[in-house]
Amino acid sequence: MLSYQHIFHAGNLADVHKHALMATALEYLTQKPKPLSYLETHSGRGVYQLDSPEAVKTGEARVGIEAVSNWFDKDHPYARALEQVRVQHGDATYAGSPAIASTLLRDIDKIQLAELHPRECGALKDAMAMHSVRVYEQDGFEMAQALCPPTPRRGIILIDPSYEIKADYAAIPKFISKLHRKWNVGIVALWYPILTDNPHAPMLKALEDLSLPKALRHEVRFPAAREGHRMVGSGMFFVNAPFGLQDECDRLNAHFSGLGTPH
Ligand code: SAM
Repeated sequence: MLSYQHIFHAGNLADVHKHALMATALEYLTQKPKPLSYLETHSGRGVYQLDSPEAVKTGEARVGIEAVSNWFDKDHPYARALEQVRVQHGDATYAGSPAIASTLLRDIDKIQLAELHPRECGALKDAMAMHSVRVYEQDGFEMAQALCPPTPRRGIILIDPSYEIKADYAAIPKFISKLHRKWNVGIVALWYPILTDNPHAPMLKALEDLSLPKALRHEVRFPAAREGHRMVGSGMFFVNAPFGLQDECDRLNAHFSGLGTPH
């Protein structure tokens, strides 16, 4: 049974890192008039209420997006998506990755999302109701294998597991290798946590050993959200990384490095 619920963590510094890079990638991809596919294996509920008891209890958004929103000027695609979702869903909302994608993508693009948890999936369907989006209550890895290569072939997939199942670390390099063989033009974006005992390290070594094209690894460190919290950083690994993403990585480095050392 899945117990992870992203509402406890929505808008934390890892979300800021992941969502800023995803929004930048989507902005770049939509500069061309050609349609694209957006897939997401672990979608969550799409829109989060930051005044909910769960979000207030951890306070992760308070030391996350609420503390660093000035890193993004109002024209930044991440800031634009957050604002548009607030206008649609209320001032206390935070846009998850499906909402960021549906905000930044166009009618010609195709969005396909997987979420395994029935309650989260139901909330996702409600949050996405205004958009033309396919939502699958299914294992995201299985959805990706079934749909890739997608039509349109140009596009991006976000893989954002909770790593609740520790076997995911070992399975992901094999999964990405197979996915890339099936969809060699697809942009793959993988998120992973940086925990105090570095469980991501063997996964990243295996991914780098695959020598995939235009691989881009970007990691940021930050103070733990609260005493004893094990997450002290966030990582993204891209295959076929879009042009211009490195500039946003460099910009984020400057901001994250000002936050102080993890404790
Ligand atoms: N990508 C979201 C965002 O950035 O807004 C956050 C997703 S959250 C980190 C991970 C989600 O994956 C949870 O909602 C969980 O229920 C779901 N999940 C866990 N295992 C899954 C699986 N095998 N397939 C699809 N969804 C899964």
